[in-house]
Amino acid sequence: MMQQVDSAKIKRMVRNVLTARPDEIGCEECLSRMDRFVEMELEGKDPGEAMPLVEDHLTRCLDCREEFLALLEALRHLESK
Ligand SMILES: [Zn+2]
Repeated sequence: MMQQVDSAKIKRMVRNVLTARPDEIGCEECLSRMDRFVEMELEGKDPGEAMPLVEDHLTRCLDCREEFLALLEALRHLESK
């Protein structure tokens, strides 16, 4: 189900994990912004640039990351039809 994420993104995620942020958001906030985050990803924009806190949370929280990847895949499949 899960497809590859490009390596530049993975590198950035790893870097984010290694850098502590005092302004972390929680799961609820992450989920509430996730639609927009995925939308930007699909538009070929850089959602991590626009919503660094969401991306930051996704690097730390496995639950949200799985949710994000599932949503991304689902929408990608819709778009490719
Ligand atoms: Zn979370």
